[in-house]
Amino acid sequence: MKQYHCGTLVPGCDWHTRHEEEAEVMRRAVEHMRQDHGEDTIRESMIDAIRSRIEKVRDAA
Ligand SMILES: [Zn+2]
Repeated sequence: MKQYHCGTLVPGCDWHTRHEEEAEVMRRAVEHMRQDHGEDTIRESMIDAIRSRIEKVRDAA
């Protein structure tokens, strides 16, 4: 399971997501940046910044 907290990149943002696939976490994170932070252009550096902040989490027992 992978998770991403937007607050690690955008201070004060409470949005977070988790999913089995890192690619899906990335997809949701990019969509969130577009919709909630008004980022029309998602740059490669932003993709890298998001990817580096995705954490691996243990599945709920
Ligand atoms: Zn956010």
